Amino acid sequence: MQSSPTVCPSCSLGCNTYTSERYGELRRVHNRYHNEINGYFLCDRGRFGAQHVNSDQRIPQAGIRNAEGKYDAIPLDEALAKIKSLLRESTIGIGSPRASLEANEALRQLVGAENYANGMTDTEQAMSAVILDVLQSQIETPSMMEVESYDAILVVGEDITNHAPRLALSVRQAVRNLGQQLAGETGIADWHDAAVRELTQHDLSPLILLTPMADRLDDVASQIFRRAPDDIISLTEQITSALNSEAPSHAQEIATTLSQAKRPLIISGTSLNSPNILK
Ligand code: SF4
Repeated sequence: MQSSPTVCPSCSLGCNTYTSERYGELRRVHNRYHNEINGYFLCDRGRFGAQHVNSDQRIPQAGIRNAEGKYDAIPLDEALAKIKSLLRESTIGIGSPRASLEANEALRQLVGAENYANGMTDTEQAMSAVILDVLQSQIETPSMMEVESYDAILVVGEDITNHAPRLALSVRQAVRNLGQQLAGETGIADWHDAAVRELTQHDLSPLILLTPMADRLDDVASQIFRRAPDDIISLTEQITSALNSEAPSHAQEIATTLSQAKRPLIISGTSLNSPNILK
C-alpha cells in the first residue's frame, strides 16, 4: 500500500487526508492531522466517500472516437495535440466551480482567457464576490478549530451538517463550552469528559439556527427559527437593527444572546443561492 498526503475534495473545508493506493486502486482515506482545520477527525464522506474513483464506469484515459464510433484510448499528449488542432477562434471553453483550480486553469490556457467561462451563474458569481469581500475585510473568519472556542453561534441559512460536515462537529464541540465552564467552576477538569457530560447534560452554549429546514444540529440548538430564504434575510436585518434597540422581538432575543456572548460567531453559506443572505 502506498500513501500520499492529500486534501479532501468533497466539500469546501479542505480537510487534510492520506490517500492510499494498491494495485492501481484507491484502498482507503485516513485523517491527516491539521491543527487549524480537521484536527484528528474527518467526516464520513471524507473518510469513506471516495470509492467512486474505482468505478469501472469512469473514463480512466484520454481517448477519441474512431471511424466505427467507438472510443479508442490514446496517450494524453496525443489527445491534447488533437484538441489543439481542432481549436478555432470561435471555440469556447466552459469550466466549472466543481472542477479543480488546476483543471479550470488548464482549460483557460487551452482556449485563451477571452474564450473561457468559469461555468458559474450570475448569482453564484455575486455570492463569491460577497465571500471574497468578507475574506479581504477586517471581519474575523475563524478556523474550524477556533470555532470550538466560541460561546454563542448563529447559523444563517446553511445546513452545515450537509454542506460542511466537519464544521458541524466543531459547532457541536462549541455548544459544550458552557458545560465545561460550569464543570470548571466545580473543580472538574475538561479532560474528565464523562464527569463533565454527566454534570452538565442540558447546559449548552447558545446555538441559534435560522434555516429553512430541519437539520441534524437541531438536537443541540437553543433556538430554532424555520424561515423561507426571504424571511431569513428579513430576520437578519431585524437582528442587526435590534443590536441597537430594546424593542422585544425574536430578533431582539437573538441580538441579546449574541451581544452577551464573549465570543459570538455567525456562520452562513451559499446553499440558499442568495447573495443577500451572505450580506
Ligand atoms: S468535512 Fe468531510 S467532506 Fe468536507 S473536506 Fe472535511 S472530510 Fe471532506
